[in-house]
Amino acid sequence: LSENSIIDLGQPEHSVVTTCAYCGVGCSFRAEMKGDQLVRMVPDKGGDANHGHSCVKGRFAFGYATHNDRIKTPMIRDSIDQPWKEVGWEEAISFAASRLKSIQAEHGRESIGGITSSRCTNEETYLVQKLIRAAFGNNNTDTCARVCHSPTGYGLKQTLGESAGTQTFDSIMKSDCVLVIGANPTDAHPVFGSMMRRRLREGASLIVADPREIDLLKTPHLGDSAHLPLRPGSNVAMVNALSHVVITEGLEDTDFIAKRCESDAYAKWRAFISEPRNSPEAVEEITGVSATAVREAARTFAKAPNSAIYYGLGVTEHSQGSTMVMGIANLALATGNIGRDGVGVNPLRGQNNVQGSCDMGSFPHELPGYQHVSDPIARGRFEAAWGVSLDDEPGLRIPNMFDAAIAGQFRALYVQGEDIAQSDPNTQHVEAALKALDCLIVQDIFLNETAKFAHVLLPGSSFLEKNGTFTNAERRINRVRKVMPAVAGKEDWEVTVDLANALGYPMSYNHPSEIMDEIASLAPSFAGVSYEKLDKHGSLQWPCNDQFPDGSPIMHMESFPMPEGKGHFAITEFVPTTERANRKFPLLLTTGRILSQYNVGAQTRRTDNQAWHDEDILELHPHDAEERGISDGDWLGITSRAGHTVLRARVSVRMQPGVVYTTFHHPGSGANVITTNNSDWATNCPEYKVTAVQVEKVSQP
Ligand code: SF4
Repeated sequence: LSENSIIDLGQPEHSVVTTCAYCGVGCSFRAEMKGDQLVRMVPDKGGDANHGHSCVKGRFAFGYATHNDRIKTPMIRDSIDQPWKEVGWEEAISFAASRLKSIQAEHGRESIGGITSSRCTNEETYLVQKLIRAAFGNNNTDTCARVCHSPTGYGLKQTLGESAGTQTFDSIMKSDCVLVIGANPTDAHPVFGSMMRRRLREGASLIVADPREIDLLKTPHLGDSAHLPLRPGSNVAMVNALSHVVITEGLEDTDFIAKRCESDAYAKWRAFISEPRNSPEAVEEITGVSATAVREAARTFAKAPNSAIYYGLGVTEHSQGSTMVMGIANLALATGNIGRDGVGVNPLRGQNNVQGSCDMGSFPHELPGYQHVSDPIARGRFEAAWGVSLDDEPGLRIPNMFDAAIAGQFRALYVQGEDIAQSDPNTQHVEAALKALDCLIVQDIFLNETAKFAHVLLPGSSFLEKNGTFTNAERRINRVRKVMPAVAGKEDWEVTVDLANALGYPMSYNHPSEIMDEIASLAPSFAGVSYEKLDKHGSLQWPCNDQFPDGSPIMHMESFPMPEGKGHFAITEFVPTTERANRKFPLLLTTGRILSQYNVGAQTRRTDNQAWHDEDILELHPHDAEERGISDGDWLGITSRAGHTVLRARVSVRMQPGVVYTTFHHPGSGANVITTNNSDWATNCPEYKVTAVQVEKVSQP
């Protein structure tokens, strides 16, 4: 055991039910305590998302919360080439506020902004966007969902009317066919991945559309299954081909379409999707998947009584991420697979509270509850409650903030609980932007990569040190309960309150429950949510309001929150990405996660999970390896149009020839050093999943 492993402290004295702070499954745990010390985390049998199950991250990898690397004291410095100076909270907050004020005085109201965290609670996220809109006086707020599921927000809103998945996790137990696109649930969402496996073992058919052979395809006693190993960048061509088969072979659900969908939009879409250029045969060259396999998959999906779609970042992190999300919704609408158990469109959200960070108004164009900033009625409600007038124009997105910083127009940034220097694409560009800032305020539990460019460091609080709520991938609001005191003396929400007050905007709350009451008063989907009700029910799935007082496990059962209550078919023209393989960069790199590590690894690398996976590795097909004289374990230089990095090789038949794969859990190896600036046309979500590269054997770095 390392010094940060869990030491056997003997029998616990009491336990507190709280929610895992890793992935979007949102498992409930009993934190078993002896005094202020955490003895162990035991999955809670009463947990509505996990029913007593857990994975290796939530169950064992919590030692990071008490790791020696935790920052316990605020720090400031005038410039990033100076050493940090430890100060008290009051001095740090006042230093940050006076810098922000003087920058705004010199460069204007729009010259500063902030990034909320998908690791923090709903209440904390709500307060940060409120700070930005009400105290900074602009809409320059964004969230890490920008780089993961922003296309989900856009695409589902356009088609189904609500920026969230339609089902409860348990719904899969009624599915007869499960279509998984660009997701690896057994590694990235392990507890739900296991539930999926149970259903597949019971006989549901599985279709996986993914460049790589994911573990789900190796489920023992798996029934019918199909792998569509499509080329990175060809998602939209593939989903259009599936829908083409449904329509041209008469497999659509005519009753559902007639009753539940807009007729004009459907007629236009039907004409578009029926065109021969969308057939599986016409796109075979683009997708690399045989037309026969695509036709078979479309028939299986359309003919099953209940077919469900689950997707991940392999759908969204593309230049056509939003188009693909709409393509998925089209397929579900055309086959009538919306609005009941066992069906639906289900984005598998990555971070514990990425759904919540979007719900809470982190995006620059939306107030909490997905209310557009240009909507005068919604904006008026917030203005009345917050006592300020608000901008009616969307603010800057994260990539726009970086560009504006390099151009000298954006001068200060407040980042809560995100490591953008490591997580965002094209690291050189991100670092240039951060270096250009006059003031970077980082609030985090560790001195992360972003903090290297910071002027103010505010210690963050871990999930064990705060009260609040997280919202998981099934829109389930779960309570987070404090089990130990905040190591730096303040919870994250208290820091935001202090900063707002120092800036001259009064904020005052006694407890996060009061923040939730304010959210409920302003966001219609949360109108029926309170801590009292959450404690009574265990959890609640939004919408939770007068219409759905006990929440909504399944959405869109009778109608869609759209004009006339109808689902909307969107035209999803396939447009190839500009990132192409050529002679110089002949391979396509795509990225993903591994079970034992989590995202940029800030938490899991500080636990014993590190021993299981202590470096990012490049997987490549034996054919590509042989061509280059590469064997397992060789060091490889990987070069793209954006940069160069070095990783070790793993030769694997899970890959298809021409496609290579790595994870992004370790700083230094830097998958993001080589990813490009391409992004989704609608939301600027980066195209992490397609980078043309060359790979060659190198000597050890
Ligand atoms: Fe935590 Fe996700 Fe594992 Fe559940 S599945 S224990 S939420 S990491």
